[in-house]
Amino acid sequence: MKNITVIGAGTMGNGIAHVFAMTGYEVTLVDISPDALERALKTIEKNLGRMLKKEKISEQDMAATLQRIQTTTSMQEAAAKADFIVEAATERMDLKLKIFEELDRYAPEGVILASNTSSISITKIGAATQRPEWVIGMHFMNPVPVMKLVEVIRGYATTDEVTQKVMELSRELGKTPVEVNDYPGFVANRILMPMINEAIYTLFEGVAGAEEIDTVMKLGMAHPMGPLQLADFIGLDVCLSILRIMHEGFGNPKYAPCPLLVNMVAAGKLGRKTGEGFYRYDG
Ligand code: NAD
Repeated sequence: MKNITVIGAGTMGNGIAHVFAMTGYEVTLVDISPDALERALKTIEKNLGRMLKKEKISEQDMAATLQRIQTTTSMQEAAAKADFIVEAATERMDLKLKIFEELDRYAPEGVILASNTSSISITKIGAATQRPEWVIGMHFMNPVPVMKLVEVIRGYATTDEVTQKVMELSRELGKTPVEVNDYPGFVANRILMPMINEAIYTLFEGVAGAEEIDTVMKLGMAHPMGPLQLADFIGLDVCLSILRIMHEGFGNPKYAPCPLLVNMVAAGKLGRKTGEGFYRYDG
């Protein structure tokens, strides 16, 4: 494999492009928005610059990595020359199904189509293609260049061979892959989101304030971030959407999102990205 195509140049897409290019792959980053592509290149350059400052990479490594990244708004063109495709576009089911249907049409036979989705069923995504055996979840964590974990999610039809290839590829990127099956929330979010939801309920019911709840979990459980701070970092809309997928997928009331979370999202308080969530971020 030589050419990697990354669909979506947002928070995750730029990080995924960064790690593939740093490992020596030729990367084509695709987005419908030319602005997003421009921002992604700037972010990658900034993050590589940080690594250079810390002497983790040389100036030569940085220049070579940047040279290996191309951008385009044509998914068709990028898919046609790809040896491996990873999709990191906006988390919407209708959008992912459409993207995979198109990728299946444009990508050569035998090319693996991976999705970085946090919560959408890999089996459903696979069913939108004629090659469900070659469709898999490759769930990187944010920020991608820093976080070691990749959840490798096997859809109902994903073969052993494809799973092994993605496990090996993740190791080659310097990550630690963990193989999991395709059920709502996979493993990471199935455990994380109920904890975040419970922290929000604890606040909602007036048991303690946001800072107090986070302090208990940071100092008491050695978590690097409190659950409310982490929810702000992830985005409260993202947390709500994952909880809804688990609630619907399992039909179990234990995943029902806390009404406070629902209200905050309705009010546009989405966390860090909007400047306010459980905390305020004014610079
Ligand atoms: P984001 O909103 O930062 O970026 C999404 C990008 O996709 C945008 O630039 C958008 O223009 C682009 N896009 C939309 N439609 C497209 C199309 N048809 N073709 C090409 N590009 C298109 O989102 P993100 O946070 O990077 O999330 C991307 C994926 O990664 C989602 O599936 C999300 O669930 C998953 N994920 C996110 C995180 C996180 O912490 N943000 C962590 C793990 C996984």
